[in-house]
Amino acid sequence: MSTESLRIVWVYPDLLSTYGDRGNALILARRAQRRGMPVEVLEIRSDQRLPAAADIYLIGGGEDGPQALGAQRLLADGGLHRAVAQGSVVFGVCAGYQLLGTSFFAKGTKYAGLELLDLASDRGPTRAVGELAGEIDQRLGLPALSGFENHGGRTRLGPEVAPLARVTTGIGNDGVTEGAWRGKLLGTYSHGPALARNPALADLLLRWATGVHQLPPLDDTWSDRLRNERRAAVAAAARA
Ligand code: GLN
Repeated sequence: MSTESLRIVWVYPDLLSTYGDRGNALILARRAQRRGMPVEVLEIRSDQRLPAAADIYLIGGGEDGPQALGAQRLLADGGLHRAVAQGSVVFGVCAGYQLLGTSFFAKGTKYAGLELLDLASDRGPTRAVGELAGEIDQRLGLPALSGFENHGGRTRLGPEVAPLARVTTGIGNDGVTEGAWRGKLLGTYSHGPALARNPALADLLLRWATGVHQLPPLDDTWSDRLRNERRAAVAAAARA
């Protein structure tokens, strides 16, 4: 941790915040506070400089136009690159995941990404909308991923990243793999918001940010209920 409080930056809420992705900042802050960690959540709009000294950066989903603008501003700002060089954690969702790669398509035009993850996104044949579930990379030691996806892009992973999960329901990157990670950078197509539906993933980000290997367990009755409800809905849809 860079200071005595955990600093979480919610990147460009004015551009990148669809399908409840703001909840990711709330969940992270709450789970840290419940373990006695002082937390600061900074909401940095796209017309502000991005501080480079925070512990966790959250980038949410966005429509094509805001996504392209967000990527251009992040490239011009350079703060996220400096933060990554200093070892900060980055969690990107959907548009916020695609823009971490080398390129993506928005409104039919190819845009440069931040090149922080070895992946590129193209346009898919259909829009991927609905439940997204998968078995997470065993090295991360997490239970199954649960989420909701809504995107037109498809993502090809290069050799320098690992897939976050193997898809069991939905599309994710390409119908086979979902999301990607390298070091302390992790991206997913999962909304929901992702960290409310996957509290173990929130705790992984907190462990990466704090260097604490074992966090005290929390009562996750409500998120377990949500996860089970969504799992049952997916199973019912598969039977129909
Ligand atoms: N604009 C991107 C796409 O459609 C991302 C959408 C999103 O963030 N929900 O692929």
